[in-house]
Amino acid sequence: MREKIQSLRKQIDVLNINILELLSERAEVAERIGEAQTTLGLSHYDPAREQEMLEAIVAANKGPFDEPTVKSLFKQIFQASMQLEDDHDKKKYLTSRTLDHEDTVVRVGDVHIGSNHSPVLIAGPCALESREQVLLTAEYVASKGVTLFRGGAFKPRTDPYSFQGLGEGGLRLGREACDQYGLKFVTEIMDPRDIGMFIEYVDVLQIGARNMQNFMLLKAVGNTDKPVILKRGLSATIEEWVMAAEYLLSAGNPNIILCERGIRTFEKYTRNTLDVSAVALAKLETHLPVLVDVVHSGGRRDLLVALTKAGLAVGADGIMIEVHPNPEVALSDNKQQIDFDTFDRYLEETGYHKKLSIKRHEVYGF
Ligand code: PEP
Ligand code: MN
Repeated sequence: MREKIQSLRKQIDVLNINILELLSERAEVAERIGEAQTTLGLSHYDPAREQEMLEAIVAANKGPFDEPTVKSLFKQIFQASMQLEDDHDKKKYLTSRTLDHEDTVVRVGDVHIGSNHSPVLIAGPCALESREQVLLTAEYVASKGVTLFRGGAFKPRTDPYSFQGLGEGGLRLGREACDQYGLKFVTEIMDPRDIGMFIEYVDVLQIGARNMQNFMLLKAVGNTDKPVILKRGLSATIEEWVMAAEYLLSAGNPNIILCERGIRTFEKYTRNTLDVSAVALAKLETHLPVLVDVVHSGGRRDLLVALTKAGLAVGADGIMIEVHPNPEVALSDNKQQIDFDTFDRYLEETGYHKKLSIKRHEVYGF
């Protein structure tokens, strides 16, 4: 009897290998179908085709497995093949982790953003409003160890009659303040025709939420090698956001940083809803650094500390915040910018004062 088992087991071993060879052959054919579908822009999942195959298999089944068992075995094979086709597609995206497993680190001068580098803080006013306001804020944030200064010279405003920014004059002011206080200048570009002018003044180009899918702008900015902060669109899915980053990378610019800034939901207590899962997911699915804008997401000063902690807890590589010498009279976002004292408390409460302490020590010797 034992010998019989042994001999039957040998048969099973051979059959296993035969099944494996057939499965591999089937997978290769499925991959070829997948490639053709991708070329035609078709989905890999075709429920009608799956149904047709199952019916043919069930009709050919002579037992001993019953119909549900045969169906379930083949469904598993179909699913594994589809996964293979999806993985194949993913591989060709430059944003994808499957192609580039290393974390991208974007360098802005001697500031490193991403991977295991200390999270950065980007601080400065919503809009660059006047020489005095720009210089005062730049001096203050620099004195706290901040290295990246933000401020809009071209503002995307909902109301066409509200302050639109100082334009090129604002870029000039931002550059002057950053040079004076050893800061890097981060500012939003809205029009691809302005690229030449921005390159002259700016260290990091920001693409705002409203322009996330402005494909001409993405291509123009992608044609430079300037570091870029790509905000997530107001109602953009994570896939749309990552695809926008793909435009930048495919145009040749490797220095791309994603920024979650809240999405539009039914909630009214906050300006937008900070999607922390998007931060974690963007870090999982892509190799790019991810920032959290705690200002435009919550839209409330009393949430800045909590949202900063939440962002850093899910792996953000940095935070963006708005600071203004006198927020009450700010020409934009006057409900959410913070004054210098509040900024001090924010740094203490979030622990950022420790993260920025190396630079602060260099500047002030304490
Ligand atoms: C900004 O950062 O100045 C801004 C306008 O943000 P968003 O594009 O995210 O609304
Ligand atoms: Mn703002």
